[in-house]
Amino acid sequence: MSTPNVLENTEEAASKVWAECLTAIAQRVNTQSLKTWFEPIAPVTLDAGQLMLQVPSRFFYDWIEEHYAALITESVGRILGSGAKVAYSVQEEEAPNPDPAGSISPKTNSPEGAPSVKGTLSLPSTRRGTADASIQKSQSSLNPRYTFDNFIKGDSNQLARAAALAVANNPGGTSFNPLLVYGGVGLGKTHLVQAIGNHVLNQGMVKRVMYISSEKFTVEFVDAIQGDKMTEFSSFYRSLDVLIVDDIQFFAGKEKTQDNFFHTFNALHQSGKQIILSCDRPPKELKGLDDRLMSRFQWGLIADIQLPDLETRIAILRRKSMDDGIELPNDVIEFLASNVTSNIRELEGCLITLLARASLENKEIDVELAKDVVRKVIGEVRTHLTIEEIQRMVCQYLNVPEDLIRAKTRKQEIVNARQIAMYLSKELTNSSLKTIGLHFGGRDHSTVIHAYQTVEDFSKTDSKYRSLVQQLRAKIENRA
Ligand code: ADP
Ligand code: MG
Repeated sequence: MSTPNVLENTEEAASKVWAECLTAIAQRVNTQSLKTWFEPIAPVTLDAGQLMLQVPSRFFYDWIEEHYAALITESVGRILGSGAKVAYSVQEEEAPNPDPAGSISPKTNSPEGAPSVKGTLSLPSTRRGTADASIQKSQSSLNPRYTFDNFIKGDSNQLARAAALAVANNPGGTSFNPLLVYGGVGLGKTHLVQAIGNHVLNQGMVKRVMYISSEKFTVEFVDAIQGDKMTEFSSFYRSLDVLIVDDIQFFAGKEKTQDNFFHTFNALHQSGKQIILSCDRPPKELKGLDDRLMSRFQWGLIADIQLPDLETRIAILRRKSMDDGIELPNDVIEFLASNVTSNIRELEGCLITLLARASLENKEIDVELAKDVVRKVIGEVRTHLTIEEIQRMVCQYLNVPEDLIRAKTRKQEIVNARQIAMYLSKELTNSSLKTIGLHFGGRDHSTVIHAYQTVEDFSKTDSKYRSLVQQLRAKIENRA
């Protein structure tokens, strides 16, 4: 191998070194591990003896860090010499608990934690100013993994997907402006809104596309004020063709940011530019949002994403495993799809863990292993949830005073909340019926059975009720 660090193009050098590493690694791990864990890694640059590798997600990074970091460092060292270093960057994906400072958090073991990267982490830098030119793809903050092609269609997302496609094919030109997609955690909002951005950029329809979470927008806004850069900030956002703002619920209570966003919104809308928003609940349930902004959101289309049904979950698993080059046995797919129901992110998490364990422990992928994975992934949630937490979240969501569900009240709305909370306590904790009854003002275990049965019965006959219970369940499981 020529000395790569003298090559002018550090990207080319990185690719060469990485290709050599892959060949070496292929001798040391089995094909499945190679496919699952090494092929998705993209070499980025080679600079001053440091090879920068990009991995698709935080979860992926954690796995690599835990299981393969030594192997990678060693292979790179063999090619570049012992002083070589390896750094990782994580393709930016929305963080469930975004760090408002936008800084890099220390490594956590949880895939749901904040971005965790050791070494150098390079996230797209903040773009400001009003260049006429296009915004480079990498600076749009879009994750190229999120496309329409790999977004599985189902009853649960039909309208949102159709509207997103319409917008993607004619940004700014449909009546869906803004397009607001709402739905619970892990149901595909970020995927869908980013798919629009990727589509318009790939088709070359427009040049200036920006994806940002409302939280990051807020941070940039505050920075701009402090750095006396408001003019640049405003003109940058007003110069976009497509602006995608994810998770607008974080705007709640931030009046100044909302005010600025309101003006940006108007400027873009007036000049026929496309605005796409997402929110974790129906906008009318958002508290702390300016009425003017709320009324703007009603101008276009508001579309929801519901929990996916069984068939959609099966289709998603099929597709994802196919993308990984692995054919899962049908009984395993069915087992996962029937048991992991709270959201798609969790379903994906179980699938990745399953593949990883099969490959690392050299086990066959079967229902036995799937059971173990699901028990661990979901079991963790169960052991940590308390009945009080469930009561609190149910009451908050249904807007009833928490103390009343432990009191004697027989008012219909309280009874309803109490029954749902009892049901979810049974479903989501390991507590006995007796213990649950005690937590609800010392009620008898038969009352809990009755509540459980009632919720099950209503869920069967009333689809609105069923989706309410499902939403709540997902919220509680995700502690959202
Ligand atoms: P949200 O933003 O609603 O919390 P995400 O868009 O982050 O959810 O989705 C969570 C994960 O589930 C992502 O990896 C996404 O690709 C996947 N996902 C969600 N919906 C679908 C779908 N309909 N088809 C395929 N993958 C999906
Ligand atoms: Mg999201």
